[in-house]
Amino acid sequence: MSKLSDLTSQCIRCGFCLESCPTFLITGDESQSPRGRITLAREADQTKSWDESTHQALDTCLGCRACETACPSGVQYGKILELARSESQSKHGNPYQKTLINTISNHKLARLQFALGGLLPGKKPPSFISKLLSGQPAEANAPTLPELNPWPPIPVEELPPVIGEVYLLEGCVMRVLYPGVHEATRRLLRRVGFTVRESNAGCCGALQAHAGYLPEAESRAQALAAAMSDDLPVIINSAGCGSTIKEYGSLIGENLGHFAHRAHDATTFLADNGLTSLLETTSKLKNITVTYHEACHLVHGQKISQTPKDLLQSIPGITLAPLAEADLCCGSAGTYNVFQPAKARELLNRKWANIAQTQAQIVVTGNPGCQSWIEQANQESDRPIRVLHTLELLESTFSGLRI
Ligand code: SF4
Ligand code: SF4
Repeated sequence: MSKLSDLTSQCIRCGFCLESCPTFLITGDESQSPRGRITLAREADQTKSWDESTHQALDTCLGCRACETACPSGVQYGKILELARSESQSKHGNPYQKTLINTISNHKLARLQFALGGLLPGKKPPSFISKLLSGQPAEANAPTLPELNPWPPIPVEELPPVIGEVYLLEGCVMRVLYPGVHEATRRLLRRVGFTVRESNAGCCGALQAHAGYLPEAESRAQALAAAMSDDLPVIINSAGCGSTIKEYGSLIGENLGHFAHRAHDATTFLADNGLTSLLETTSKLKNITVTYHEACHLVHGQKISQTPKDLLQSIPGITLAPLAEADLCCGSAGTYNVFQPAKARELLNRKWANIAQTQAQIVVTGNPGCQSWIEQANQESDRPIRVLHTLELLESTFSGLRI
């Protein structure tokens, strides 16, 4: 029995997952539901025939894993998707997807690409590029390099004694587009007594794994573990990277089970090491309403939902406004908003309408893809608000919001 057939046979076709699935919600089409995709993958695996319609069904999946949370039978849909995509990509894969993912997962090439993106006339990639990538008009703006605006150093009297060292996953896209999130993470770690051991680690392989390029994901996983070989905690502030690294030892990185156990989401590590009590006593934020978008790979991939909200709620001066459909994917989903722009846009519009209804002044989330996609909706809105990473808002409690 193949691994894929083993995994797909766990599905009893009950359909409890259907209403949790964003692509089923917006299409009503069984082939765009978890149950439909699992059935197609099982049949293709049995007949060894990966046809175009099965590829399309897999390609339109966000990989958000909301279906895993909903499934009463514990079906590991994320693994099914990665294995099925690795089969179907080899026949029907879009060569530009692999090139794009391999480019942006190299931080030096990503920096160059985003710098060039800033020179383009207009915000979106030219239509001939978008035609090559998706066959549809582009929806996502070309990423551009951020302006650096660091906080002043933390006053010495605010720093506790150092009690330990950690690694911080700087990653690929995250370090280029959101250096301020890494800065906030380092400052928060230091506030609870940890310094960061520098490493030359790069991409963790998440983008490749989610798209089904498993050999490429494997080589990145091995390189990452080798670059962080000392037995220290590995702190991760990007939901997609965190869920991939925590799952090393199954589909990729068979020898990296111990490394996976060293991986910690930044918010849970900080909460476990006393950040909550620090937040309760200090706040430069006053009378601010915040709402929280649950990044899929945090809430569904890592089952982390309450801790970031508890941290936010412990800040004096902040009111946390509930967000309708908070755990429904925003449509960013790695490179989904590039390769499936129409569906990604529909989900973004739905997400933004829910955010606007909260009347919040700030929306926070724990993943760079969600942050930039929701920021785009914000820029397009006639009532713009602030879009921040959870860790940026937590550090702002001590250092103030950046102008
Ligand atoms: S994935 Fe789970 S919830 Fe969905 S049909 Fe299969 S068994 Fe039911
Ligand atoms: S991963 Fe998300 S989009 Fe894909 S089938 Fe599951 S719920 Fe639907």
